[in-house]
Amino acid sequence: MTEATDVIVVGAGFAGLYAVHRCASAGLSVTALEAAPDVGGTWYWNRYPGARCDVESVDYSYSFDEALQQSWTWSERFATQPEIQAYLRHVADRFDLRRHYRFGADVVGATFDRGRWQVRTAAGQSYTAQFLLCATGCLSAVNRPDICGIDDFAGDVYFTAAWPREDPDLHGKRVALIGTGSSGIQVAPIIAARAEKLVVFQRSANYSIPMPNRPWSPEEQQQIREQYPERRRISAYAPAGTPHGTYHKNAVDAEPQERAAALWQRWRQGGVLFGKTFPDQNIDLAANDIAREFAEERIREIVTDAVVATDLIPLDHPIGTKRICTDSGYYATFNRDNVALVNLRREPIETITAHGVRTSDATYPCDVLIFATGFDAMTGALTRIDPIGPGRERLRDIWVNGPLTFLGLMVPGLPNLFTISGPGSPSVLANMVLHAEVQVDWAINLVQTARRLGVTEVEPRRDAARAWTDHVAHAAEQTLFPKAASSWYLGANIEGKKRVFMPYTGGFGNYRRQCDEVAQDDYAGLVLTTRYESPQELSRR
Ligand SMILES: Cc1cc2nc3c(=O)[nH]c(=O)nc-3n(C[C@H](O)[C@H](O)[C@H](O)COP(=O)(O)OP(=O)(O)OC[C@H]3O[C@@H](n4cnc5c(N)ncnc54)[C@H](O)[C@@H]3O)c2cc1C
Repeated sequence: MTEATDVIVVGAGFAGLYAVHRCASAGLSVTALEAAPDVGGTWYWNRYPGARCDVESVDYSYSFDEALQQSWTWSERFATQPEIQAYLRHVADRFDLRRHYRFGADVVGATFDRGRWQVRTAAGQSYTAQFLLCATGCLSAVNRPDICGIDDFAGDVYFTAAWPREDPDLHGKRVALIGTGSSGIQVAPIIAARAEKLVVFQRSANYSIPMPNRPWSPEEQQQIREQYPERRRISAYAPAGTPHGTYHKNAVDAEPQERAAALWQRWRQGGVLFGKTFPDQNIDLAANDIAREFAEERIREIVTDAVVATDLIPLDHPIGTKRICTDSGYYATFNRDNVALVNLRREPIETITAHGVRTSDATYPCDVLIFATGFDAMTGALTRIDPIGPGRERLRDIWVNGPLTFLGLMVPGLPNLFTISGPGSPSVLANMVLHAEVQVDWAINLVQTARRLGVTEVEPRRDAARAWTDHVAHAAEQTLFPKAASSWYLGANIEGKKRVFMPYTGGFGNYRRQCDEVAQDDYAGLVLTTRYESPQELSRR
């Protein structure tokens, strides 16, 4: 029998859990579907050793409930995966969200028919609801590269993005790590300390900034609790959804000493903030060069072998135009005797054999292969479901020339569908927890408005979606971001994916204001229609 509710939420990460809570609080009936056996989303799957958030946990946590944020204590500046997952489990229990979930439910299709979404899972179950909210994550569709010979490998194969629940024992093993994005950079120092030998295969070098992580003292934890309301007030409309701003002057207007002081301050503060040291850093190449050269000097100071240091320095993008990575001893790892770096731009992989990786220059024997090869970012989880609208249009066809969205939240031709953290939203350029709260609030407020007005379908006008998508493209063109040709922001890591800059670079606060304005303007840009039956009749079907 098909289960029927007002809303179906797919996903049990930060966004999905909050969406289910909002639905339940608003009196909407909700079914929630999640492929994993538990809550956590990103923090369920990415349980590789060294996995941590790179936005400070005091910011990278829900703001919607003051009692929740007063009751939870983060032990360190940047929490580990187990601590973040424990937090999300706590949230699920505190707000009694699990009762809405069907875990192990992998959604493989969704069709909109006569005012309702029909959703199918891989196990053959079907669910129906008037609204479908995809909180499927923008970094959840794992990229499994098609490397020649991969199936012949005789040893163990792991993906950082689907790490086994029981951490594999790598002591005495020769490990090949393929991929040097955020996850590869976080996992490498820990594997190096455990394994007999680690060979890191790097196609694209990335900039990484040390994470000066440390435990919070009880006094600091108390201070955080006291300052939370103010911290959240500032973050709510801030450019990145955190209370941190940029230096008060453009890099090009500051004296060299002043610039160096500002860069050192950010370097020591650690993490992704370095990418936003100066207001002009991501829009003016001369300003970016100042920050980039500073970071490169630090890499050369840490890495003792000059050739390795040069290989670790990206040549193909301004700093910050690919997501800046955050590490705990990544560069120093290459000073260890048991670690080697292979530059795949110089010697590409030819094949994987039963016992190693063969490049154009050499064979590297290994017992374990670890892939840290990222995700089909922003669109992958949505196109894998490939929702079909009432006009038989499929999402993949609508997006054949790149994502077309309204506010990165809705797609023309697919009524009553919300794409949380979708392309065209700031998502990956912002604090994604506050971002999820903003988008979910907007979506559920619209659902409530539609039901109050007796509206059965809400859908963006095609011209409004075109205008938003053009605005997203124009905003990106004002920045240096599109200069990073190998970036996953552009889809460049996925074979055959259309190269379009996907995130909205206009800033979180600015984005939030535009969402507010659309709602206040009676949802200008959307078509609200009543077809077939009233919402009450629809929910009985
Ligand atoms: C290692 C790592 C570190 C990160 N660190 C940070 C950070 O410090 N700061 C930051 O802002 N962001 C960070 N991110 C981004 C992170 O993805 C988001 O912050 C956030 O966790 C996303 O939450 P979400 O609920 O939108 O999606 P997710 O957490 O990805 O959850 C989506 C869920 O949907 C499920 N799902 C997807 N498709 C289907 C389907 N077809 N059927 C059923 N279920 C499905 C998935 O199984 C998953 O559980 C990080 C990402 C990674 C991978």
